[in-house]
Amino acid sequence: MITFSHDCPYCKKKNVAFEVGDFGMREQRHSDKDVIAILGTCNNCGGGIVTNVNTSRFRGYRQSESERIQHILEKHHGEKYSLEEILPRREFVFYPQPAKPEIPEYLPRDLEHAFVEAEDLYCLVEENKFIKQAGNSYRAIIELALSKLDNNSQDKNLNQRINQLAEQGKLSPSMKDFAHRIRTLGNGASHALLEFSPQDLEDIRLFTRLFLIYAFTLPAMIPKVES
Ligand SMILES: [Zn+2]
Repeated sequence: MITFSHDCPYCKKKNVAFEVGDFGMREQRHSDKDVIAILGTCNNCGGGIVTNVNTSRFRGYRQSESERIQHILEKHHGEKYSLEEILPRREFVFYPQPAKPEIPEYLPRDLEHAFVEAEDLYCLVEENKFIKQAGNSYRAIIELALSKLDNNSQDKNLNQRINQLAEQGKLSPSMKDFAHRIRTLGNGASHALLEFSPQDLEDIRLFTRLFLIYAFTLPAMIPKVES
């Protein structure tokens, strides 16, 4: 089947060749349209992506559009090397989509800047590359975020600061729990000899974002009570 180029959402390689592994054509009920779901697999990492193409089943004096596209997918051996060239005037949206930065609203400026950097690093993560660096940058964000919640700017380790803020009532029990989980995951990211897996990175990214939303975004969204 045909090959086309696309940015891989898994191994993050740009313009890597994807081979059409298979496709499925289904009639859309109550219309003369078909949906062709195309599965492509990355020649570098093997990851699969899917796109849906709506085509017309209407048959003029020649084959229908659905048949023509099915034919191209199966038989094409030309030089063309993008799905848009092979099937012109169509837009292809592939799933899964590449990771995009997701920045919580209403963060203090330096915290927002640090989070954008961590997200940029996260989007660069490839298999076994930059995983610890990205994890470390989320841990650094929690240190910065907690120092903003703490009136006592004295230098202290993360464990002490989390416990003290919780004792002072500045962190709810669930936020204290979040912060400790980020701290523990962050230990793995910052020590050369400790394990830090891609799933650990997903967890520390999620916990950090939730912590920031809880600590900064939600309080800023509550309308001020007029006195
Ligand atoms: Zn890939």
